[in-house]
Parts: sequence; structure tokens; C-alpha cells
Amino acid sequence: MNFKNEKTFVMIKPDGVKKGLIGEIIRRFEQRDLKVVGLEMFQPSKEDIDQHYPKDEAWISRLGQKTLGTYKKYNIDSKKELGTDNDLEIGTMVRGWLIEYMTSAPLVRMVVEGIHAVDMVRKICGVTIPSLADMGTLRGDYSADSPAVANTEKRAVMNLVHASETPEEAQHEIKHWFGTRKVIFNYKRFVD
Ligand code: ADP
Repeated sequence: MNFKNEKTFVMIKPDGVKKGLIGEIIRRFEQRDLKVVGLEMFQPSKEDIDQHYPKDEAWISRLGQKTLGTYKKYNIDSKKELGTDNDLEIGTMVRGWLIEYMTSAPLVRMVVEGIHAVDMVRKICGVTIPSLADMGTLRGDYSADSPAVANTEKRAVMNLVHASETPEEAQHEIKHWFGTRKVIFNYKRFVD
């Protein structure tokens, strides 16, 4: 465990890139004393994204349950809307929409380092659903999407950024997206 120099993985999603928010997103991390140690714009393939999101049933069902939860809250009939009320089937559908969304524009991938970087970055991003995200977070300040709208339009929720959820996930994602290429840097800032 290295809480001081913890690394996390961040991707600026198509809506973040297309809204011209690359600079602002990086600024918010740097403003909170986090250090960018890897940074690149790239166009992912469908296969890259397919490998990025987990394939286990538990993760996919959880994605479906999120949609079912939203539909229940807003009294939307999932069978009518999506043709099923099975969480795994809905999760599989959402995962497919995610792959379409994530390959619809170039993305920016980065490695961000600092004190509790994983949790700090998630906090700066805000909760998954932009319409519920607190003001002051990236998602709360710059987006307003909701699963009730996204699912009806048969697309993923657009929420500007992806950020690893745990240090283990960060390690796995950094390996997947940066591999063995030597583009992650080790440097000291003036304050260090
Ligand atoms: P996070 O990205 O905050 O870690 P998840 O891992 O739960 O969130 O979901 C992955 C991504 O899938 C989200 O960032 C969002 O783009 C999309 N997503 C999540 N839930 C839904 C949903 N119910 N309908 C459509 N897209 C969703």
C-alpha cells in the first residue's frame, strides 16, 4: 500500500472530449494537488473497450440492476421499453451501448498520482449518474444525463470521465491501457 503516491487510471470519455473539457478535467485534478504522470489521446477499438469493462455476470447484472432501479423510481415499464426485465439481459444491452459510446470519438487516457488518488479522483468526478452528481464535481458541473433518458434512447449514460474504483482495478487498468510502454513518468514538482 502506498497511500502517498497512489496511482489511478482516468479516461476522458467522448462527451468530455467533444465538450472541450480536456483542459478543465486535468485542471481539477491538478488543483487538488494530484500529479499527471501519463497522458495520451487515442482512438480505441471496440475490442479495447470490450476488454476494459468487466465481463463477469455479477458486474453485468449490477449494470442491469441500476437501470431497473431507475425504471422503478420513474415508473417506467422495462419490458415495454427494453423488451425484458431480466437484469443480466439489460446489463448486457447496456454494456453493448457502452462499447458504442466509448468508441464514438477519440479518448484521453491518463495516469494520475497522489495521496489516495483513487478515492480523490472519484470524488472530483462525482457519482456515476450526472443528474444526481453534486455541484462542484465534474459530472455535477458539466453534465446532466440520466439512465431514464439514456436507456430510452438506447445508449449509455454520458458522464464525461471514467476513473478506477479501487487500487486493484487501477493497477489492472493501467496495465491494460499503458502496457509496458515507458510513457508513465516519475518526476518531482517544485512543491516536492
Ligand atoms: P462508474 O463509471 O461511475 O464506475 P459503473 O461502473 O457502474 O460506473 O458503470 C460504467 C459506465 O456505464 C458508467 O460510467 C456509465 O457511462 C454507464 N452506465 C452505468 N449505468 C448505466 C445505465 N443504467 N444505463 C446506461 N449506462 C450506464
